[in-house]
Amino acid sequence: MNIFVINSGSSSIKYQMIKMPEEALACSGIVERIGSGDATITHNTYKDNEKQKHEAQSHIRNHVEGLQAVVDLLTDSKIGVIKDTSEISAVGHRVVHGGEKFSNISVVTESVKEEIKKLFPLAPLHNPANYRGIEVAEKVFPAAKQIAVFDTSFHQTMPEKAFRYAIPNKFYKENGIRAYGFHGTSHKYVSAKAEEYLQKKDIKVITLHLGNGCSVAAVKDGKCIDTSMGLGPMNGLVMGTRAGDIDQSIIFHMVREMGISVEQVNNILNKESGMLGLTGANDMRDINKAVEENGHDAVLAMDIYAYRAQKYIGSYIAALNGVDAVVFTAGVGENDVNTRERICSNLDALGIVMDKEKNRATGIKGVKDISHTSSKVKILVIPTNEEMEIARQCYQLMETNK
Ligand code: ADP
Repeated sequence: MNIFVINSGSSSIKYQMIKMPEEALACSGIVERIGSGDATITHNTYKDNEKQKHEAQSHIRNHVEGLQAVVDLLTDSKIGVIKDTSEISAVGHRVVHGGEKFSNISVVTESVKEEIKKLFPLAPLHNPANYRGIEVAEKVFPAAKQIAVFDTSFHQTMPEKAFRYAIPNKFYKENGIRAYGFHGTSHKYVSAKAEEYLQKKDIKVITLHLGNGCSVAAVKDGKCIDTSMGLGPMNGLVMGTRAGDIDQSIIFHMVREMGISVEQVNNILNKESGMLGLTGANDMRDINKAVEENGHDAVLAMDIYAYRAQKYIGSYIAALNGVDAVVFTAGVGENDVNTRERICSNLDALGIVMDKEKNRATGIKGVKDISHTSSKVKILVIPTNEEMEIARQCYQLMETNK
């Protein structure tokens, strides 16, 4: 069964076609700068695990034209992977916000689309683009089942004491203001992989998704019990350009005392803060270089980043009443040996001891165990694969609905 996975952004479409149940990646790619006049398509095909890259520039005015261009590549006589779009059974859409309505994946119907629309105010940057992806895919893949997979679903198992804020009840009851959490597909995928690796069910795992956006989740028996992102994706860890946890009074101070508009404050906290605000760079590779050159700002920023992560690990060990494994994933978590070392340093009282040599070892595919033999807690590096998780969930749904 061919599952086509789409992550539709405001000016981009990321996609993968995955053959199930073999979990074989047939092709992947991204259409970028849609509508700008110089859109590009990077399309990869895979033969015997060898990746072949095909790049094209094209005038793509909108998402329909973007996806149609992808279909041309999918069905191309030389590099195509299918003959006709009818060979795609389901399209799995990454939808960022599913609110309280969607604790699971859902076949797209008119009422599901209405619900996704209702959630636009909670995810104004993402849900409208995800919604557009669904509408476009309905036109381009008319024979396929459209399925929505929500980033928030995995966190719907959080108990009320974890997801409620201590603000007047009416804001929750009438306006849905509560913590929802994000990166759920990734936390779910890597926590399940940790269970698989440790060959134990019902374990306690803390998963750190450290990419441009960063979040941490506490997972018990395969279910999320707490996570660091909240109503939106700004809370919690220090991120590439987002501040994470701050004292709310900073916002009022900026608005009232400094005359900065609410829109500008939003922009500052989302796009100009985090590692970018502290160092002038948001990519950990650049910040690591600055650390090597002893740049004070870079060293301090790394300390702040790691210290915040350590505090979350400590608090989630309390929430879980113990922990079996700490998992690092996403761009920073999977690649940045220095950041992992900083986060795991000085946590021996919590049973977390890293083997620094294993941490630096390269060339390991799949799960990398970087815990010291004396460590009570396993420290694992697990590459995330949100697309594969989406494909798996879609496949399961298709099989049960047969
Ligand atoms: P996104 O949240 O956009 O999906 P990713 O999970 O791909 O992001 O993470 C991107 C980030 O990962 C980069 O901004 C960079 O900070 C970090 N990163 C990627 N490769 C490396 C590397 N080799 N060393 C250190 N950091 C890296």
